Amino acid sequence: MVAKLLDGKKLAMEIRTHLKQRVQELKQKGVTPKLVVILVGNDSASRIYVRNKHRAAQKIGIETKDIELPQEITENELLAYVKKYNEDDSVHGILVQLPLPAQINAEKITHAIAPAKDVDGFHPVNIGHLFMNDPHALPCTPHGIMQFFKKYNISLMGKHAVIVGRSNIVGRPMAAMMLNNDATVTITHSKTKNLSELTRQADILIAAIGQAEFIKKTDVKPGAVVIDVGMNRNDKGKLVGDVDQKEVAEVASYLTPVPGGVGPMTIAMLMEQTVKFAERGVQNVDGE
Ligand code: NDP
Repeated sequence: MVAKLLDGKKLAMEIRTHLKQRVQELKQKGVTPKLVVILVGNDSASRIYVRNKHRAAQKIGIETKDIELPQEITENELLAYVKKYNEDDSVHGILVQLPLPAQINAEKITHAIAPAKDVDGFHPVNIGHLFMNDPHALPCTPHGIMQFFKKYNISLMGKHAVIVGRSNIVGRPMAAMMLNNDATVTITHSKTKNLSELTRQADILIAAIGQAEFIKKTDVKPGAVVIDVGMNRNDKGKLVGDVDQKEVAEVASYLTPVPGGVGPMTIAMLMEQTVKFAERGVQNVDGE
């Protein structure tokens, strides 16, 4: 079998085109979706992420405000920025780019963002709603992965989904979303025994590990759908996933490439969520 590639670039573009239309409709009602992105310090990878988010927003017509703050800012000063934009009605989404410098408790900052403006979907209130199958705001990476299933008509009902990785931003919310869509979910992690035995049972395998090309052909059931979330540099400096793409493509039915798979979908979902929050604001004004 040669796996069909799930093209995240193409799907993200389709989603962006649709979002542009929704932004136009909002603008006709006098509302411009606005996203505030707060970047602390000089982390070069974070700068690239923020720039990419800014560009994606501009293309769709979302207004962005990038707040660049010095590395040595205190927690209270940063909290004051979050509070300011929580209270600003013209702002629909707030994102604080992680990681934050050591003097700042990242959890405290994430928890300070108003749940209604939490475009990253990391606030415990939003995570709680998601786990109760009443989602309000969704973590963008797993939300983006769900779009592949919709687009390619991959039903989750009754399927065994095995997730490798239990982070708050990928593994755990992914499990909730798949459970909400009637999959039978197994979450695995670094302490899991006989990992390969479990991954080989997966109809749908999600690799969110952070280890270059960790999942091999022998870890995958023939015909499985394999989602590669990883973004790692191998020893030659090349960007590779958590899945050995070359090997696994021989046995999987579907596979997300790296790059061009999950990555573009994460940004597209950030945009989608910003637009959704702005639309909610309009509905509230209309009394709907
Ligand atoms: P974390 O480091 O927060 O979590 C990694 C998870 O993998 C942990 O739960 C860890 O287990 C588990 N793990 C690590 N080693 C093993 C192992 N040998 N066997 C089984 N499980 C293991 O990473 P993230 O979830 O933030 O990210 C995962 C990957 O996805 C990274 O490569 C990251 O760059 C990428 N990523 C990509 C995004 C995109 O948009 N494409 C967005 C976000 C992340 P334990 O909990 O026991 O430590």
